[in-house]
Parts: sequence; C-alpha cells; structure tokens
Amino acid sequence: MHEMSIALSIVEAVATKAQEEGAGRISGIDLVIGKLAGIEPESLKFCFSAAAKGTLAEGAVLAIDEPEGVGECGECGKRFPVSFYYAECPDCRSLRVTIVSGEEFLIQSMTIEEEGI
Ligand SMILES: [Zn+2]
Repeated sequence: MHEMSIALSIVEAVATKAQEEGAGRISGIDLVIGKLAGIEPESLKFCFSAAAKGTLAEGAVLAIDEPEGVGECGECGKRFPVSFYYAECPDCRSLRVTIVSGEEFLIQSMTIEEEGI
C-alpha cells in the first residue's frame, strides 16, 4: 500500500531526529499534504499508527494541513483552483497550466517529550 510506505518513511525520519535530540517520545507531528499529492490523509493516519508501534513515534498525533490545488495559466497568468493535474484555464481555455500549490508533502514540525511513554 502506497500510504504504508509513506507512513514508514515519516516514522523513520521523525524517530531518527527525535533520537538525535535525546527525546523520550514524539507526541505530535505536523504534516502538510496538498490535495493533489495523491495521499489519502485518513489512510495515512491509519498506517501511521501501525508503522509507529514500538518506535519513539508511537501514539503521536498527526495534524495534517491540506492546501488546496492551485494552477496558474501560462497564457494569461490567471490563478485558479484545480482538483486534477490536467486543468484548463477558466478564462482563456489554455492547457498550459502549471500547478503552483497542492502537491506539497512535507513534515513541518514535531513535538517531542523528554519523558518516555
Ligand atoms: Zn488563461
């Protein structure tokens, strides 16, 4: 499953970082997952709780920010909301559209506790 491998890489990244900082555990993780990133947040949360078992990230709460997809027209410069990769400019019907937002996927921050579980 796609979300499972993503969950595992998040756990690996945050657990490594928390260990470097001498944390007892990770209580929260803030993620940014754009609506066009192709990642299902609910499914990711589910996979995450399984992937985090036995690591410093076990029990951490995921807070997920989901920026809307935004495209920019290469002909007239208009910016508009998009829900698919292949969008058409609503003004000039151009297909030269660049996605400027919504594909993000990043770990923005995490909250660590000194005490273990
Ligand atoms: Zn246009």
